[in-house]
Amino acid sequence: MSTSDVVIVGAGHAGAQVAAALRQRKFAGTITVVGDEPDLPYERPPLSKDYLSGEKSFDRILIRQAAFWSEREVGMALGHRVVRVQPDEHLVTTADGTEFRYGTLIWAAGGAPRRLTCDGHDLPGVHAIRTRADVDLLREELPQAARIVVIGGGYIGLEAAAVLSKMGKSVVLLEAQDRVLARVAGETLSRFYEAEHRAHGVDVRLNVAVAGLTERDGRVGGVRLVDGEVLPADLVISGIGIVPSVQPLIAAGAAGANGVDVDEHCCTTLPDIYAIGDCSAQVNRFAGGARVRVESVQNAADQATMVAKHLTGDTEPTAALPLFWSTQYDLRLQTVGLSTGHDQFVVRGDPATRSFSVVYLRQNRVIAVDSVNAMKDHVQGRTLVMQAAEVEPRRLADTEVQLKELVG
Ligand code: FAD
Repeated sequence: MSTSDVVIVGAGHAGAQVAAALRQRKFAGTITVVGDEPDLPYERPPLSKDYLSGEKSFDRILIRQAAFWSEREVGMALGHRVVRVQPDEHLVTTADGTEFRYGTLIWAAGGAPRRLTCDGHDLPGVHAIRTRADVDLLREELPQAARIVVIGGGYIGLEAAAVLSKMGKSVVLLEAQDRVLARVAGETLSRFYEAEHRAHGVDVRLNVAVAGLTERDGRVGGVRLVDGEVLPADLVISGIGIVPSVQPLIAAGAAGANGVDVDEHCCTTLPDIYAIGDCSAQVNRFAGGARVRVESVQNAADQATMVAKHLTGDTEPTAALPLFWSTQYDLRLQTVGLSTGHDQFVVRGDPATRSFSVVYLRQNRVIAVDSVNAMKDHVQGRTLVMQAAEVEPRRLADTEVQLKELVG
């Protein structure tokens, strides 16, 4: 058994960032990161972008090289999956029975891809995109695959479709709802991305439900829709969201319905246990005070910083501004704020020019800005969202007026 002042479960974005931030803030105690993947922490966004396309090597997506962690005396216990938390004993146990005693536990375990449950969901050739191992396996199979069906029109599905269609694959993208990105963006953005994908040759199908996957030669051979149509597929990618990885914490008594609940300092309801990143659900002023899980690198980094500050004596809570980006083809989308719950939106610029923004309002106040190839709006829109600025929609739509001029 090893004992550390801080044990971090999960060697992903949040886990890496909190370890680095603790050392940056001169935390002198012992730190051990326990992660179930075999690799040092790496960036996940390239997995559906330039790591999938082969433009970036694995070495280039490492968050830090090995020397960074050893110089800072951050222990990396990789290839260990924590399956049990015993808060009274301050102990976590891994699947192979290794025990780690902690002073403080930071749970940063992210989420696992939500799996399809239909017939054929476990056939070879059906892939998710969450880890390096997922993408390495997918890339191994790509040369033999001409026809690819992507299930799910969220960011990951769309990004994968963009990369694969650029590689010359025939791609069908299936979305159960009546528009892509329905969970995270307004209709203007959805329609814009649907048109872009179609223009790049992706067959985007909306309002479709998958009945099952069919087999050919021991692998996936097609996707059967509920209306009976079978789409031939040499490979299927499923991008239908994640399930937060919190089971051991919940089993230990932590509160949480969607992830694990944390307070403004990222403390769970269990003593000396924090939770950060994709797995944590926090009351968020940018979501109108609702408790939400935010799945983004920025959120993982911000919550990691909050915990490092709290553990080193800075107890002033901070409200992190939600930020996200997505790259598809030559389009750079940047979002600030959370648009869920908007009651009005304004389109700024003409989507036909492929450079525009959508500003979302709730009760006349700006709550989010999505910018496509419009960096200036993104940067200036941050202040409007931070201030929940009350601005006349007519002025937001006027591209002659810069957003910074509307800051109150
Ligand atoms: P993760 O980075 O997932 O790290 C959690 C780690 O914990 C994983 O290594 C996991 O295997 C491990 N783990 C889980 N359970 C256990 C356990 N019981 N014991 C030990 N280890 C465990 N965000 C953006 O902002 N912009 C983007 O463009 C973007 N693109 C993305 C593209 C893809 C393909 C994916 C998958 C995500 C993308 N995201 C993007 C989201 C972003 O990567 C996540 O929000 C971020 O990784 C969350 O960090 P995290 O540390 O909470 O979780």
